[in-house]
Amino acid sequence: MSVDINEIKEQIATEVRRMHSRLIDMSQTMHANPELGFAEHKAAELLTGELEEHGFEVERGVAGMDTAFVATYGEGEPVVGIIAEYDALPKIGHACGHNLIGTWAIGAGIALRRAMPDLKGTIKVIGSPAEEGGGGKVIQADAGVFNGLDAALMMHPRDRTYLDRGSLAVTPFEVEFFGKPAHASSSPESGVNALDAVIQVFNSINALRQAFKPNTRVHGVITHGGDAANVIPEYTSASILVRADDQAYLEDLNGKFRNIVNAAALATGCEVKITEGLTYQQRVCNTKLVETFGENLTALGFDYEVPPAGAGVGSSDIGNVSQLVPTIHPYLQICENGVGGHTQAFAEASKSERADQLAADGSIMLAWTAADVLLRQELREELRSTFQQQLGREPAKG
Ligand SMILES: [Zn+2]
Ligand SMILES: [Zn+2]
Repeated sequence: MSVDINEIKEQIATEVRRMHSRLIDMSQTMHANPELGFAEHKAAELLTGELEEHGFEVERGVAGMDTAFVATYGEGEPVVGIIAEYDALPKIGHACGHNLIGTWAIGAGIALRRAMPDLKGTIKVIGSPAEEGGGGKVIQADAGVFNGLDAALMMHPRDRTYLDRGSLAVTPFEVEFFGKPAHASSSPESGVNALDAVIQVFNSINALRQAFKPNTRVHGVITHGGDAANVIPEYTSASILVRADDQAYLEDLNGKFRNIVNAAALATGCEVKITEGLTYQQRVCNTKLVETFGENLTALGFDYEVPPAGAGVGSSDIGNVSQLVPTIHPYLQICENGVGGHTQAFAEASKSERADQLAADGSIMLAWTAADVLLRQELREELRSTFQQQLGREPAKG
C-alpha cells in the first residue's frame, strides 16, 4: 500500500493547527519560568507530560542528566529525531528563544504521530538540556543517543530565516594561576605574581594571532585579577574560548594554548591549573536535508535568505550531532532584522504575538521534513550518501 505524502502533510498541518493554542501555552509557560541548563525541571516535566499524553513512551534522565529525555513512538527503522532545547540564560531568561525550540519539537512530534497512525518506523523527540554552555548534546552524543537516526532535526529562532549556517568548533578553558602574596611596595621580591601570569597568557595569544588560519577565534576574560593594588596577587583566573572551523586545527590550537599557559606559569614561577570543558564540534548540516527542509518552508509560504559569505558565526552543541548523523539546524525569523540573540529585546520577541503565531508554522515545517524522511526511502539514501560526501564516513549506526 502506498501512502500519499501530500495527504499526510495536510493532515500534519491540521493536527498542528488544532493544538496551536496548547503550543502557545507551552511556549509562554516556559518563557515565564526560565530555568538554567541542567535545572530545566519544569520545562522537561511540561514537555514530557504532553508527549506521554499523546502516546509517546518517555525515558527520563537520559545520559545521566535529570532534565534530558527521549520520547519514542513506533518501532524499527526508519528513525527520525526531533530535538528540543528548553534552557534559558542567567538574568535575561529566554533571550535565545529556546522556549520556541522546545515548543516546535513537541508540536512536530505529536502532529507526526497523529497524522501517521500506521507509521512503520520510529519518531523520537529528544530533549537536550543546557545548550547554553553545558553541552547537553555533547554528553548525549557521547552516550550514543543520536546513533541510528536517519535524520536529526531542530530549528532555532533568530532575526532572519536561514536554511543553513555553519558554526565553529569550540573548546572552553578555565585557567588558574597560584602565586605567593607579598607587600607590593615593601617586599615585592618575596612574592610570586599570579597577575603577571594571566596577563602573559593574553599577550601570548595576541602574539600568536597573526598566524591564525581564517575563522579562528580565541577570546576570553580575566575572571579574577587579584584583590588589592598593594598586594602581589596570589591567585588569578581566566575563562578563555578557543574556536576554529575544523576539528583537527582546533586540537592543534588547543595544544598551543596549553603551551602558552604552561609557559606563563614557568616564566612567573606560578603553579597552574587548566580545566578543559566539553568541545562543541563544528556544525556540518546535511545539504540534502537542508534542501528538503527549504522545500517545505517554501511550500508553507515562507522565504529565506542566504547568510552572507564570510559572516561571523558562533558555536553550538548541535555540531556534535551533525558529526554523527544527517542533521539540520535552520533559523526562523521571529523579529525585525538586527535584534540580536541574548538580548532583552530578543527575550521579548520570543514571547511576542509573532512568536506565538510561528509556534504552529515552525512545528509544521519540521514535521513535514520529518515525514519526508520517514516516508521516502530514496531521500534517506541520499541523506546517507550526502553525509558520506561531506564528512568522509558513514553515519553512526544505532
Ligand atoms: Zn544562545
Ligand atoms: Zn540558542
